[in-house]
Amino acid sequence: MLRGMMMDRPLLVSSVIDFAAETYPNVEIVSQTVEGGLHRYGYAAARERIGRLANALIGLGIKPGDRVATLAWNGYRHFELYYAVAGIGAVCHTINPRLFPEQIAYIANHAEDTALFFDLTFLPLLEKIAPALKTTRTYVLMTDSAHMPAESAMQGLYCYEDLLADNSPGLTWPEFDEHSACALCYTSGTTGEPKGVLYSNRSMLLHTFFLVATRPDLFAHNRTILPVVPLFHANAWSLPYVAPLAGCPFILPGAKLDGPTLYDLMESEGVEAGWGVPTVWLGLLEEFKKRGRKPRKLAQILSGGSAVPQAMIDVLTRDYGIEVTHGWGMTEMSPVGTLTLFRPEERGRPAMGRAALSVKQGRRMFGVDLKVIDDKGNRAPPDGTTSGELFVRGAAVVSGYFNNPDASTRQIDEEGWFGTGDVAKITPDRWLVIVDRTKDLVKSGGEWISSIDVENAALACKGIANCAVIGVPHPKWNERPLLVVVRAPGANPSKADILDVLGSKIAKWQLPDDVVFVDALPMTATGKISKKDLRAKFAAHKLPD
Ligand code: ADP
Repeated sequence: MLRGMMMDRPLLVSSVIDFAAETYPNVEIVSQTVEGGLHRYGYAAARERIGRLANALIGLGIKPGDRVATLAWNGYRHFELYYAVAGIGAVCHTINPRLFPEQIAYIANHAEDTALFFDLTFLPLLEKIAPALKTTRTYVLMTDSAHMPAESAMQGLYCYEDLLADNSPGLTWPEFDEHSACALCYTSGTTGEPKGVLYSNRSMLLHTFFLVATRPDLFAHNRTILPVVPLFHANAWSLPYVAPLAGCPFILPGAKLDGPTLYDLMESEGVEAGWGVPTVWLGLLEEFKKRGRKPRKLAQILSGGSAVPQAMIDVLTRDYGIEVTHGWGMTEMSPVGTLTLFRPEERGRPAMGRAALSVKQGRRMFGVDLKVIDDKGNRAPPDGTTSGELFVRGAAVVSGYFNNPDASTRQIDEEGWFGTGDVAKITPDRWLVIVDRTKDLVKSGGEWISSIDVENAALACKGIANCAVIGVPHPKWNERPLLVVVRAPGANPSKADILDVLGSKIAKWQLPDDVVFVDALPMTATGKISKKDLRAKFAAHKLPD
């Protein structure tokens, strides 16, 4: 082998914001703030504040490799943390605030976060859980001095804007190994506790390049993009990196994500592309119908995280002239795996013909390899009929979970591929179609509910002999949990009794929508509850409103 003779320069996340500040200084990031009102500035001004924040982090004693957690909505300060934390070689650990407080504490402790930055919304939550956070020394409230609480149970709380004011913007980014970690996201485990996916500077930049290279049109001409997908959810699908790189105005919608609010923001900011889960688009679609039109410039919707209903693609295409791009991916894949990608002969079809193809999960993104393994352990041919578990491989795919060697080995096969827990088939013209899921989870509006957690909580109720939780189709949330219960002999717990007990153990949005009683649960040959049979049995179950 003859070694190439090119410079060995590290791929670092910090280079993206420097490029944007220099190339697109006046392209704006616009944020709906938690305090009220819109905040706007250009990439150059963002870089200036990111420099101040980075100096503040160093002053607070944050060292390379330290985990700095966030509990925050999509806003400019959260965006600044992405870059300042990674820029100094530390790790931006975005925590999902929708989780139950005990789970948030578990995740922060498992990650050994040293500092935590949070939006005003989460002050009451932090006041409650801070005593349980064993390694977190520094708490920063992401607001200005005018909004700092006069009194708080939290001692020594820092004010974000004061930290920025007290520090200079001047900073040359340190250079370090591109394999150093830059971000951390926990994902719900099928069994046990959430697992950490630790991204490197290199994987994050490669994923960003792969995405832009595979679908350059999604970002062309400095398109105005609004991520509804949260910055705490799989790096907001890479948009905080792609937008500055491609010079896209970036519209951050804050905490309120209902149809009318999103519509108004899209209209006033001239948003051209929105990225999020199907549930969000269904809400927005209702608003289109009410107003008889779409936000004036909206031309593209990227929908991922759950299967996109054909009816939704059809209405958006036919009635509103919006092109829907469907994506499939996982937190473990940084996260994009496949997305709608037309061959020239398909692109030439009428819009509704393209819409019919977009219901499939897409073609692989460059940099992601796919293989389907059938029931017998053989590689399934791309014949559009043979399905099996989907495995993936790539430079932005997880190689193991953070501080969790058990979970790490279970999901990587002998050839080094990652098992997704999705059941898929691939058509001869290379469209991926997801047909089922082996993992025991319910996905409601883009957020996971662990069936096992709900089952364990339910089994603690009096009068339940056995139970199982499955996802059943729901028009708004895509899936909602249904609890199937076998009563103990002689016992007669009602639906209300059970939901009452569950309410004190799990988050409200994770509560089953319905409880049904059966005499026995279907079992597999190995004596496990057959979720597959249960899902088939209750596929048409009508959930109460
Ligand atoms: P994200 O929601 O960002 O894609 P998660 O790691 O939370 O990432 O969830 C990944 C899982 O969600 C996939 O393994 C799959 O089960 C499901 N999923 C994601 N996108 C789709 C899709 N387009 N169609 C069907 N299922 C999907």
